[in-house]
Amino acid sequence: MKILLVSDIHYSLKQFDWLVQVAPNFDLLVIAGDLLDVAGHADLDTQIVVVSQYLERLRGATRVLACSGNHDGDMKNDAGEYVADWLQDVREENLSVDGDTVDVGNLRATVCPWWDGPVTRENLSAMLDEARGEGSGRWLWIHHAPPDGSPVSWTGKQFAGDAHLLELLERLKPFCVFSGHIHHSPFHDGGSWVSRIDDTWTFNPGCEMGAPPAHIVIDFDAMEATWRSSMGEEKIDLAAPGDATPRPT
Ligand SMILES: [Zn+2]
Repeated sequence: MKILLVSDIHYSLKQFDWLVQVAPNFDLLVIAGDLLDVAGHADLDTQIVVVSQYLERLRGATRVLACSGNHDGDMKNDAGEYVADWLQDVREENLSVDGDTVDVGNLRATVCPWWDGPVTRENLSAMLDEARGEGSGRWLWIHHAPPDGSPVSWTGKQFAGDAHLLELLERLKPFCVFSGHIHHSPFHDGGSWVSRIDDTWTFNPGCEMGAPPAHIVIDFDAMEATWRSSMGEEKIDLAAPGDATPRPT
């Protein structure tokens, strides 16, 4: 099972084009939120149309999991909290979005929506409790914000991750969490693209301009993960959790 993880594409069409090109090489493509860019040149409606078309092409090439980030909300729920309603409309075969839990091989993947306030946050907790199920597979969460207090949420000055996610993770103990959101964590001293909290692997590929985007390839057969960016390539052995320090290749 070979997985490609990216996040924070922020309406970079060059990066979406690259994804379309490489997607057939992977069993699973995970886009961990912020597909759109609220400060982008194109208005949000246009971005939604274009990104929905990209997602349609990508699901023709491989299985795709995409969660919403803080840039992806296009409407407010009754509590006045932003939700990515458009993402619900693109759900199709081979394309799982916010709220979905799917079993892929020996993985159980849950796609978590961005929570924008107490109501969407409580919905997320309930959703994860329900999704936990009895499956014996490895449980993977896709959640835009990384857990707080971890190198994958380090801004260079402070941890800016999600404390609620950290609580959920410590309680429900998924095998791994795929995030993004803190664009430069992997590029700062003290930050990283991979870390470990108890028995949970956490990943954040980071965000760079241009193509290809910073990305992580996770191979659960070889039990290794590789991060590629403008900084070069680093690898980590997922079978040796005692040493959660990536090494350059
Ligand atoms: Zn972002």
